[in-house]
Amino acid sequence: MQLEDINTVAVLGAGNMGHGIAEVAAMAGYDVNMRDINDEFVQNGYDQIEWSLNKLAENDQLSEEADTVLERITPLVDMGEACADADVVIEAVPEQMEIKKDVYGELEEVAADDAIFATNTSSLSITDLAEVTERPERFCGMHFFNPPVRMPLVEVISGAESDEETLDVIEDLAEDFGKSPVRVHKDSPGFIVNRILVPLMNEAAWLVSDEEATIAEVDSTTKYGMGLPMGSFELGDQVGNDVSYHVLEYMHEVLGDAYEPAPLLEEKVENEELGKKTGKGFYDYEDGPGAEIPTDEQSDLVEARLLATMANEAAKLIGNDVAPPASIDEATQLGAGFPDGPVKMVDDYGLDDLLETLEEAAEQTGYERYEPADYLEARAAEGGFYDQDDDDEGVDFETIRVEYPAEYVGHIVIDRPHRMNTISDDLLAELSTAIDQLSDDDEVRAILLTGEGDKAFSAGADVQSMAGSGADPIEGQELSRAGQQAFGKLEACDLPVVAGIDGYCLGGGMELATCADLRVASERSEFGQPELNLGLIPGWGGTQRLANVIGEGRAKEIILTAERYDAETMADYGFVNDVVDNDDLEDTALELAADLAGGPPIALKFTKRAMLAGRDDTDAGLEYEASAFGHLMATDDLMEGITAFMGDGEPEFEGN
Ligand code: NAD
Repeated sequence: MQLEDINTVAVLGAGNMGHGIAEVAAMAGYDVNMRDINDEFVQNGYDQIEWSLNKLAENDQLSEEADTVLERITPLVDMGEACADADVVIEAVPEQMEIKKDVYGELEEVAADDAIFATNTSSLSITDLAEVTERPERFCGMHFFNPPVRMPLVEVISGAESDEETLDVIEDLAEDFGKSPVRVHKDSPGFIVNRILVPLMNEAAWLVSDEEATIAEVDSTTKYGMGLPMGSFELGDQVGNDVSYHVLEYMHEVLGDAYEPAPLLEEKVENEELGKKTGKGFYDYEDGPGAEIPTDEQSDLVEARLLATMANEAAKLIGNDVAPPASIDEATQLGAGFPDGPVKMVDDYGLDDLLETLEEAAEQTGYERYEPADYLEARAAEGGFYDQDDDDEGVDFETIRVEYPAEYVGHIVIDRPHRMNTISDDLLAELSTAIDQLSDDDEVRAILLTGEGDKAFSAGADVQSMAGSGADPIEGQELSRAGQQAFGKLEACDLPVVAGIDGYCLGGGMELATCADLRVASERSEFGQPELNLGLIPGWGGTQRLANVIGEGRAKEIILTAERYDAETMADYGFVNDVVDNDDLEDTALELAADLAGGPPIALKFTKRAMLAGRDDTDAGLEYEASAFGHLMATDDLMEGITAFMGDGEPEFEGN
């Protein structure tokens, strides 16, 4: 089965997750049959979808009428009616093996032979569930995060017998739902995100149970020292202590004593202090102030133990081929809002130090959970989980050049002057590699982006190199996504980006410039989104990102008229930050990039991330801002900045 073959999606369960998944599928244009065990439950889910869609419409976050989306969803109680025509069935019934097994038994009776079954289980074995069906090869995990409408991550999990085609199509479906799928290659307890988070919360609870630290110290360290979005106990209360306990018990059963739940956590569950939902957990939300976390009670021991726990879990995941480092980092960033991935965090801290922490703790306490995984020992000897020498240094580019014209500035030059610096498939790929290379380079703190020569920054997509895409709509979509992603990488990159524009900045070239943070242009530059003249639309993010810079009114004017604009006008519109003499462009753009490169790296990174996080969701952005602000309180850069300010000197930021 291919993505194009999927028209109808059945969702089993209209509860917390089921209704959210049904909503996401309908928003992506699928016909959805949502099934629950009685009219009341299914109607309840339907009402929640209606409420949520209206809310999205109010905030301009729906591309069509709420009613149009709602009409695609049919609430049903009859299993046959719900599933007989379904191409994919996503199951989100309660997390109990017996209930799920019954459901799959019933489902087999009515579903089409070639339908794919995907379970949203958070902890049960995909392989065990698949065994109940007659199609274990067309069965896999599709683990959404709560709430599905807002959370971008979907873990796509392979059971022992899932075939590649099934996994591919479910991954494509998740992408088509507008989500970011991450593949989990083996059916291992907790998959990725819970496998990192739950042992982390358990370690925090053990530290308090054993009186090695207080709740305040642990949360102060996690939130303000390590820069995670919440304190460990704050997170536990948010998730629900019963939920973490339940996942942990399962890990304990399958993986052994290293996952024994901490007494403190057990006690909370016994006393029904389950967290926010019961008004009390580790913090008191009803009669007390909730999670009030001090900024100044950070502890080195807590940081080392928590990072060592993450390193050990990461080692088990990577060493057992469940997921590679980049997938673990991506999943945890998307699913738990970590500013940096856990693998990168432990690599940065030093795997050898964390190995030592584990060995010492194992000796002192005798606890099994401190026993280092073999793979951790192997990687500590190599200097980290990520390959230390695969940082792309020395890559030979064909379509761009990467230069280092000033301290801390990395310069990407679009190097196709013979073709007006137009953007080809190869250029997209090389740009993406270059952004990774510069982002990973400690000696680079700002990126300058220009086009070779004085004719064009970039005159758009290289139509000739793309002719291969022919009239195939799927290839066209892929081409659009490739550009969206490469440019999106620039937009989301942690380093400030300056575009120096000299000459034509048209179509795809303008979409690329839109992803820079600041734009300087020479007087002679010309701008425009001419796609509509060709019967196309700006397909590399132009319909979305331009409005973020200059507002929807001007963006529509530029795109719909497909006119050319001079640099002064684009400065009036707020697209160009500065217009300079033609001869001064290069120097001015470099000066600006060098100036930004002298800024505080951590604060710059957090500012960009907070602004991006808040673009469509102010609450998420504010939450990020608060957490980043807290994190910055503990940086050396802040002391440097304040000292220089008081002494009237120039700060020298180290990025610490
Ligand atoms: P829920 O209790 O809110 O919803 C489950 C729904 O399934 C209920 O409405 C119930 O009536 C219905 N149901 C029971 N038997 C059914 C059947 N035979 N056919 C159809 N519907 C049936 O639970 P939830 O939080 O939505 O969790 C559902 C699944 O999603 C679980 O496997 C859970 O582990 C997983 N999950 C939950 C979260 C979360 O944060 N809540 C996150 C990710 C995954």
